[in-house]
Amino acid sequence: MNDPKISGIAALNLKDPSLFRQQCYVDGKWADADGGKSIPVNNPATGEILGTVPNMGAAETRRAIEAANAAFPAWRVKTAKERANILRKWFDLMMANQEDLAKILTAEQGKPLAEARTEISYGASFIEWFAEEAKRIYGDTIPGHQADKRIVVIKEPIGVCAAITPWNFPNAMITRKSGPALAAGCTMVLKPATATPYSALAMASALAMAELGERAGIPKGVFSVLTGSSAAIGGEITSNPIVRKVTFTGSTAVGKVLLEQCSKTVKKTSMELGGNAPFIVFDDADLDAAVEGALASKYRNTGQTCVCANRLLVQDKVYDAFAAKLTEKVKAMKVGNGMEPGVVQGPLIDKAAVEKVEEHIADALSKGAKVLTGGKRHALGGTFFEPTVLANVNTTMKVTKEETFGPVAPLFRFKDEKEAIKLANDTEFGLASYFYGRDLNRMWRVAEALEYGIVGINTGIISTEVAPFGGVKESGMGREGSKYGIEDYLVVKYLCMGGVDR
Ligand code: NAP
Repeated sequence: MNDPKISGIAALNLKDPSLFRQQCYVDGKWADADGGKSIPVNNPATGEILGTVPNMGAAETRRAIEAANAAFPAWRVKTAKERANILRKWFDLMMANQEDLAKILTAEQGKPLAEARTEISYGASFIEWFAEEAKRIYGDTIPGHQADKRIVVIKEPIGVCAAITPWNFPNAMITRKSGPALAAGCTMVLKPATATPYSALAMASALAMAELGERAGIPKGVFSVLTGSSAAIGGEITSNPIVRKVTFTGSTAVGKVLLEQCSKTVKKTSMELGGNAPFIVFDDADLDAAVEGALASKYRNTGQTCVCANRLLVQDKVYDAFAAKLTEKVKAMKVGNGMEPGVVQGPLIDKAAVEKVEEHIADALSKGAKVLTGGKRHALGGTFFEPTVLANVNTTMKVTKEETFGPVAPLFRFKDEKEAIKLANDTEFGLASYFYGRDLNRMWRVAEALEYGIVGINTGIISTEVAPFGGVKESGMGREGSKYGIEDYLVVKYLCMGGVDR
């Protein structure tokens, strides 16, 4: 293995500086792009360049896929327990390096360090969970349809998998895919988002992740990480017939492109796409709890999560009280560099993200919305934005239909349950939804009426490795985490045995 090149990140005082890598990990080796080209990576809080990563393309991707294919036979025949032991070591390494991984994550992504630490343990939990789950990939026996027949169903790893991940959870979106894939006996080629390539392992960076994986004893070729041109890497991944499965987390627009590309070689796909989460507050809700839930759901990661409350629907009778309580809390939020103690809102990922937030606010204001707090770029400059609450929001505004992906809470007013459900479901998305209320009958009615893959009832936090995460409608297909998560990496095979004499 080459020595890691270490640069701008030195200021982070990592306990293990070798976690910060500026090369890709392909077929068990650290590698530069064929032509030596690289891409700079910046810190969104300071604008400083943290370092560079290789600008790889189709040729390097093809080699990584071929290496994954070569590694597959040996990896798949390991017993589930052997794979589980290796994954468990990977998990242990992640947790042992949690602080370093969190620092790398904050430096490249911007989220407060406390949130980054949580992401590392959340990310690691998928490796732990699927290490355990590997031993429980059960099949079936089915009574034969004829006297001499015996039917057995076995589950097998699908083969070489490819993953493409976003920048908002640079660690956890990787482990949610690599954990079940490797546990199932598959091998994987992964392309992280170009904005956040350093976030280690199931911890913070895909590159560092590969390194920790190697330390944990994963054979070469089982897991490769490439950075570079998304179109070239994505093009190779989706067209190469060796790849049997593509798993993607990101925007619905890119998901649709990948689905189309994958159709040419009929690959199995998992798509974790965009959301437009409604957060409904009924008039019998515990308002303080609802405010806490809204803060957690809306402002975590500066509003840049796929399960962020995008539309806050509040019943007439409690609208003003809820708005006042939420505004008071939002005004008190400390914005700044995620490395500083007490900061709860970091910067947005880039200039385009700031412009989208501004566009949504300007559109809402032009159609009658009112700013209760925030509403503009933060005095800190760069990509910092004031945590915002908007009142008098209605369905003619852009925030109704599009994911804002920023720290803006738009408050809609509704009269009754029927109207709330109608508003909530009036979107092509169907990932997460939330509601607060105490009436038990209504809880069931509303939970069943919401056209979403996930419903948070009296809670704003729904992510855990033990539950199935995923959406319906244009939010995608497949589930990550839980006993369902491993199914996406398996194929069912039916064995029909005949000629059994009595
Ligand atoms: P994005 O623009 O779709 O990018 C996601 C990944 O796709 C990145 O690695 C990106 O590479 C890559 N990509 C872009 N164009 C591509 C192409 N033509 N071919 C192959 N790969 C391509 O999304 P994002 O802005 O990073 O992430 C935010 C979105 O992700 C939001 O919509 C959010 O809701 C969604 N998300 C969903 C979930 C979920 O579980 N459902 C979780 C987190 C985020 P580059 O970085 O190189 O452009």
